[in-house]
Amino acid sequence: MKWEENVRKVVPYVAGEQPNRPGMIKLNTNECPYPPAPGVGRLAREMDYDALRLYPDMDSRPLVEALAAYYHVEPAQVFVGVGSDDVLSMAFMTFFNSGKPVLFPDVTYSFYDVWAGLHQIPYRTCPLGEDWHIRPADYCQPNGGIVFPNPNAPTGLLESLDVVEEIVASNRDVVVIVDEAYIDFGGESALALLDQYDNLLVVGTFSKSRAMAGLRIGFCIGSEKLIGYLNNVKFAFNSYTMNLPAQLLGAEAVREEGYFRETVGKIIATRERTKGKMKELGFSFPDSKANFIFATHASIPAGQIYTALREADIYVRHWDKPRISEYLRITIGTDQQMDRLLGFLETYVRA
Ligand SMILES: *Cc1c(COP(=O)(O)O)cnc(C)c1O
Repeated sequence: MKWEENVRKVVPYVAGEQPNRPGMIKLNTNECPYPPAPGVGRLAREMDYDALRLYPDMDSRPLVEALAAYYHVEPAQVFVGVGSDDVLSMAFMTFFNSGKPVLFPDVTYSFYDVWAGLHQIPYRTCPLGEDWHIRPADYCQPNGGIVFPNPNAPTGLLESLDVVEEIVASNRDVVVIVDEAYIDFGGESALALLDQYDNLLVVGTFSKSRAMAGLRIGFCIGSEKLIGYLNNVKFAFNSYTMNLPAQLLGAEAVREEGYFRETVGKIIATRERTKGKMKELGFSFPDSKANFIFATHASIPAGQIYTALREADIYVRHWDKPRISEYLRITIGTDQQMDRLLGFLETYVRA
């Protein structure tokens, strides 16, 4: 068709499957196995549905103010969006316009190259070292901006604050985005560097550590100047990105610090126990500080294990991509879920 010549053609992101059958074990998209904070449920049940007649606060103030108080920054330093995917896409559009390539690791969150494609931003990938760590020297070449997750996905490896600072400090002329989707599971946040670097943008999400993937809440924190530019793009795009329930329930979740710490603590404990058991079964993996383990087996191909697990109704993630095709990314579930996984693997690897 003639009209097709003028269609923007993009390669879409492929998310992990979302099957939902009773009894299945879903360890493929890094969701939290525990419910959101109890106050979130209470507020959801008591919410005044008449308020839904009206447009929500276009500045998402309830949520922005709760996040600003929690992270000890000014509300003008906080931007929120419909999941951190929305925040990241908006940030790519706002900050990566030099025409020079944006840099990110070769093995990383597979949405970065999709957004680069969508927003027509050139990019170059920097190979992770053999040990799966980021090599900061790679990020000293001329570039139009930098983005990387810390801890990285799907490796789960954390970079120290010194490494993050080295990258930010050597790139003062561009915006550096640190995607901290998994920082709550044992990492040190780059928020500590905000006072020194006005080109640093730290992105977070409620989908993993805060057990609210279904509400779609993401945020980022940076200098007032950076956040101001992001808001201008957002208001040129859609004034009302965040719905009222997300603003109120998200703010409530942030206030329930005790429950949050407890949930994250349980996931960390289960992760460390799972690491021990998987080693005994012949798996090896980078030392994850996230809510998943990126594991390879000494003798059984990853694709084969993936298929066997699937047939047992246990879903994990596997990519047929260079460097990582022998690895499985396994989300940390409850102790009971991990016991079922480990029980299956024990029989499987010994067979
Ligand atoms: C899960 C994830 C996100 C996006 O999460 P949202 O649900 O859109 O908030 C962003 N970056 C990384 C590295 C992730 O793993």
